[in-house]
Amino acid sequence: MPIKVLSEELALAIAAGEVVERPASVVKELLENSLDAGARRIEILTEGGGRELIEVSDDGCGIPTAEMPLAVARFATSKLSTMQDLFAIESLGFRGEALASIGAVAHIELISRSVDEINGTRLIVDGGQVGEPHSIGTPQGTLVRVRDLFFNMPARRKFLKKDTTERRRIISLVSRYALAYPDVLFKLTQEGRVGFQSSGSGKTRETLAAVFGIETARQMIALSTTADAPVKVEGYISPLSVHRGSRRGMTFFINGRYVQDASLSAAVTQAYHGLLMVGRYPLAVIFLDLPPGDVDVNVHPAKAEIRFRNPDIVFSVVQRVVRATLLGQTPPPAIDLQRGWGQADRSRVISPDWALSTTEIEKVETIRGAQPTLTGGGLPLLRAIGQVGASYLVAEGPDGLYLIDQHAAHERVLFEALMEASTQGEIESQALLEPITIEFTPTQAAILEENLEVMKRLGFEIEPFGQRTYRVRSLPDLLTNVAPEQALRSVVEDFEEDETPLMAETEARLAARVCKRAAVKAGQVLSLVEQQQLLRDLEACQSPRTCPHGRPTMIHLSVEALEKQFGRRG
Ligand code: ADP
Ligand code: MG
Repeated sequence: MPIKVLSEELALAIAAGEVVERPASVVKELLENSLDAGARRIEILTEGGGRELIEVSDDGCGIPTAEMPLAVARFATSKLSTMQDLFAIESLGFRGEALASIGAVAHIELISRSVDEINGTRLIVDGGQVGEPHSIGTPQGTLVRVRDLFFNMPARRKFLKKDTTERRRIISLVSRYALAYPDVLFKLTQEGRVGFQSSGSGKTRETLAAVFGIETARQMIALSTTADAPVKVEGYISPLSVHRGSRRGMTFFINGRYVQDASLSAAVTQAYHGLLMVGRYPLAVIFLDLPPGDVDVNVHPAKAEIRFRNPDIVFSVVQRVVRATLLGQTPPPAIDLQRGWGQADRSRVISPDWALSTTEIEKVETIRGAQPTLTGGGLPLLRAIGQVGASYLVAEGPDGLYLIDQHAAHERVLFEALMEASTQGEIESQALLEPITIEFTPTQAAILEENLEVMKRLGFEIEPFGQRTYRVRSLPDLLTNVAPEQALRSVVEDFEEDETPLMAETEARLAARVCKRAAVKAGQVLSLVEQQQLLRDLEACQSPRTCPHGRPTMIHLSVEALEKQFGRRG
């Protein structure tokens, strides 16, 4: 094909693809425009996960009639005029291409009235075609309505996730912005329901509560900054008792701009080093302020990534401030002689099972009589010998020694039983004497909302009870030993940390969460009979060697390996 200059329409669509990746990117651009316009109140409305409709309205300065066509033209901005400006950006927008890009891949209706004018203006943009502006009566501020996102890019449309996933991304975006702008009221309505709302009172803790729930917000620790630091760091971090299974609970704003930056999350994670279990991450909302010249925000079309002039300094300041705050709050365990190590360290729990009762010995003897054949899942029959550290079972098989992680093994057993019962439609659930109501974070509420049916199949009877509150009527039988609120919360929290839900797997994933909660814990003392029962149940499993999350349930030391270790064989 000969080289040709792209048509304007095509060029715009290609460029638009970089700015507008998904509904949440549209919301981000529109929010940033409203914030740049000094809005104190921003309402966001979406339908169909943002695919069908995204509407953002604000009470900001508005757009003068004469400038309306420019607002939607490419490279037209009121925020930048000289090359110098580009290196000292104080506004969120500056590229002047958001509205043009959105207009290239959707139908836009722009309605605005500037502070200085009596009448407003309405302008339509349809897949890049800009219509005639019309005068219209409207309150001060701007309303942008975006319909049928990617209507002219079927491939892009196809790549979008389910509505619910897109919806969740929008909630998490809006709630993050609300954190950074506590004096702006944000209200997000999705499919007719208010999914998130902040008060705009200026109190960050109130917004924290709207985002993380009241209880977590109460526990979050404000960062204590030193005035002489080269970078101003403010924000909140979670205490050691609150943690998540992914890094996604950490949010960073630089000069009021939401950014994703792996080195910043690494700095925070490092500050918690040795204080949290491996694989657990804190929650953090951190605002960095540095001179605009020290950060380049123009490295990414959607402005989601930034570059620091001195990345090392920023990293170490964040790490130090977080660490100092944490240590100020939490005495290092080594110094805490009163409590000693014992409380957290379960390996000291001594299993009383070494001394067996006679009846127990009898039971074990009966079990010993079993045939040493392989079971369905390929496991030989195992004989329980005892427990180590109240966490691992020691067992003997025909081919050597087995160490079994009691928690992982029990998870596997419960999981297979639960999945089986679910296929048969026979899951037992337990009605609570008193239904309880629980408040969730907006994202968690969205998860519940999308999974109510599946949850019901698994034995959770839950119903919406106000904006982000749910009423729990019954729980799966498996969870009756766990406090109901904690049971449900932990299942939802674990679920939240899973990326990209695949519908087909939802039930299995939820079931795995339930089992994780219900399984015996490490540190729980089991009688020999219980140990032997667990082994029997494990032998009956289809996949006894891994837990539902894929971790091994056992370590095998073959007779040969033992002999080799003891120098009996070469
Ligand atoms: P940028 O934000 O990079 O300037 P946009 O395409 O997002 O580019 O917006 C173009 C221009 O339209 C902005 O510079 C601003 O002058 C005007 N504008 C857009 N949205 C709003 C709004 N909500 N309130 C006031 N002015 C707006
Ligand atoms: Mg903009």
